[in-house]
Amino acid sequence: MRTPLILGNWKMNKTSEETISFIEELKPLLEDLSGVEVGVAPPYTLLHLAGSLLADTKVLLGAQNCHWAPHGAFTGEISSSMLLEAGCAFAILGHSERRQLFGESDARVAQRARAALEAGLLPVVCVGETLAERDAGRHFDVVAAQLAGSLAGFSPEELAGMVIAYEPVWAIGTGRTASVEQAQEMHGFIRGLIGKMGGEAAGSRTRILYGGSVTPQNAASLLEQTDVDGALVGGASLDSQKFASIARFRV
Ligand code: PEP
Repeated sequence: MRTPLILGNWKMNKTSEETISFIEELKPLLEDLSGVEVGVAPPYTLLHLAGSLLADTKVLLGAQNCHWAPHGAFTGEISSSMLLEAGCAFAILGHSERRQLFGESDARVAQRARAALEAGLLPVVCVGETLAERDAGRHFDVVAAQLAGSLAGFSPEELAGMVIAYEPVWAIGTGRTASVEQAQEMHGFIRGLIGKMGGEAAGSRTRILYGGSVTPQNAASLLEQTDVDGALVGGASLDSQKFASIARFRV
């Protein structure tokens, strides 16, 4: 049984004041929610503030990236142990914006995921094809290659404890969501691949989130697909009402 997981990726958004309002509004909206795990990933500078405001809740705190080395001469970077100390429980890795704008390779994503896992953070590894790749009928090959590279070297047990986020690049921030059929088809494919990489137990235990223009309106239909175990939410996660309503997709 895979517990649904709803994560918000704030990207480079929100001030301290906006963070305080968001969390104060979110808390009562999620108070009675059970059977669903919820988390938010603010920018690094807001982690301590968000963590202290969330301390009396079950909402998980996460980071949007993490470096692969424990410490050292890596100006501008943050390590997994620093994130853990800041109260993080998960780290989003290999987001398409990191891959496209910052040249992140699958090998780097694997290194980051290894560091996160070893520090005790839940790695959320993102994969997804561009529109050109889908139009060319290459989406399964692209996602398979990203998964093979980003998850290289992990044991079946480790794979089972990781989260994969399928985020078609053409659906991120565009308002164009994958259809439920497209989402289920790719999630089923990813689950099959994880099963091949780590055995049946890993395939059936690994949670696979969908990301790409998830809204309160489309969340329930996406999340009721057999292999969709949650959502990675960008734009709608900046609004407490919308984010809470996505987290309450069953209610
Ligand atoms: C994201 O950036 O991970 C994302 C899914 O964004 P949005 O929900 O805005 O499409």
